[in-house]
Amino acid sequence: MQNIKLNNGVEMPILGFGVFQIPDANECEKAVLEAIEIGYRLIDTAATYLNEVAVGNAIKKCGIAREELFITTKLWVQDAGYEQTKAAFQKSLDKLQLDYLDLYLIHQPYGDLFGSWRAMQELYNEGKIRAIGVANFHPDRVMDLIINSGFTPAINQIETHPFDQQISTQIFLEENNVQIQSWSPFAEGKNNIFNNDLLLSIGNKHDKSVAQVILRWLIQRGVVAIPKTVRKKRMLENFTIFDFELSTDDMQIIQTLDTKESLFFDHKDPNVVKWLSEYKVAL
Ligand code: NAP
Repeated sequence: MQNIKLNNGVEMPILGFGVFQIPDANECEKAVLEAIEIGYRLIDTAATYLNEVAVGNAIKKCGIAREELFITTKLWVQDAGYEQTKAAFQKSLDKLQLDYLDLYLIHQPYGDLFGSWRAMQELYNEGKIRAIGVANFHPDRVMDLIINSGFTPAINQIETHPFDQQISTQIFLEENNVQIQSWSPFAEGKNNIFNNDLLLSIGNKHDKSVAQVILRWLIQRGVVAIPKTVRKKRMLENFTIFDFELSTDDMQIIQTLDTKESLFFDHKDPNVVKWLSEYKVAL
């Protein structure tokens, strides 16, 4: 497994396993156990995925030393603020049955971010989190946080796939020492991505699937990827991307698919701000 080094020197795997939309506890625990068995070490969950307990059960049963795993979870909007963040962090840690977290992210750029960020820095300084970061922050929000808190996030986890490649955002993040991480590397299958002619033809050339081409393209760009699947065969397929290389031509061809627009929603849209801010879950 290839690792990348975060801005505080902590190393994380460049490829991990996401567990969004696996609400069933047994299915989630089984998927995480199988993923770890295949070789995944980075697991990406969130308080709102409502499966932290299942992830924790898998971690407990997997037989791999805790320090070999890299566990991420995220703080939801309803828990924004200093006190709320401290409480939400402890709740997540308890559900995961862990005594420290590798990465804790602010899930959405809304609410009392600076209160949350202050609490997260304290938890980081106390050694309860190895790295702290954000998700879904546009560059202006990242800059605001860096400048006005004086503490640079280690990661920004954002929608990144062949139809929304985030090329200029990646340059901005790199210039500011923030690692880019892709969510929905397959765009959740939207736009018939697995049957895209360009991606299929590149895959045929290398005897690889579209999924493998996409993940290889991301890691060759230095983007951390966390694909999700509940099928063991696909977990293995998505993991087998370190035995081939895309050419400069391949990379340029993939670049032509970029629409520079989200396939999901725009975090700057007032309706989205309202929707996500009002989205409450029983955590
Ligand atoms: P994704 O990984 O882009 O796509 C998952 C979909 O692709 C599932 O329907 C899966 O189906 C299918 N799939 C997986 N591997 C495949 C393969 N080799 N061939 C064909 N189909 C395949 O979507 P995602 O789950 O939204 O994103 C990945 C992770 O990013 C999440 O799990 C989560 O951890 C994170 N995320 C974060 C945010 C955020 O706001 N920070 C937002 C979204 C996601 P099966 O499961 O049926 O195989």
